[in-house]
Amino acid sequence: MEISQELSDSINDQINFELYSAYIYLSMAAWFEQKNLPGMAHWMEVQVDEEYAHAMRFYRHITERGGRVLMKAIKGPETEWSSALDVFETAYEHEKIVTARIYKIGDLADSQGDRAAKGMLEWFYDEQVEEEKNTSEIRDNLKMIGDNVHALLMLDRELGARPAAAAPPTDSTAP
Ligand code: MG
Repeated sequence: MEISQELSDSINDQINFELYSAYIYLSMAAWFEQKNLPGMAHWMEVQVDEEYAHAMRFYRHITERGGRVLMKAIKGPETEWSSALDVFETAYEHEKIVTARIYKIGDLADSQGDRAAKGMLEWFYDEQVEEEKNTSEIRDNLKMIGDNVHALLMLDRELGARPAAAAPPTDSTAP
């Protein structure tokens, strides 16, 4: 079943939004670098790779099904935050927006009876649970830490150990 134009358009928009997400996290990495929090900068760099992999998964889905991916301009990200807590609060709020967008694409796939798209989106539903959990946990840790510099540096070291992201999948249904 060839993908519908409407569904292809909405997934195209999501490719752009995932690349925008990568750009936001790279902006956050650069902010952390300047604040001398290299562990948090590293955590954000891994997140950039994850967002690129998300974009590629959507990209593969359209191309595998005879659709055409069209690149568009990527919006400029925020560049300033008031604290590490502010950064992770922003990241968590952003991931909630991503989840809502992906649910909307799922509703559209449902309304068209597009089970292939639904299958591909199932992976994203699980992934978004992880994304919201990861960002909200770090936000909560930073809330507890408050003004304790020692604890902040401990957390920075911990986040610096985040393993590299998996390479982008070569097809949209890869595990
Ligand atoms: Mg994403």
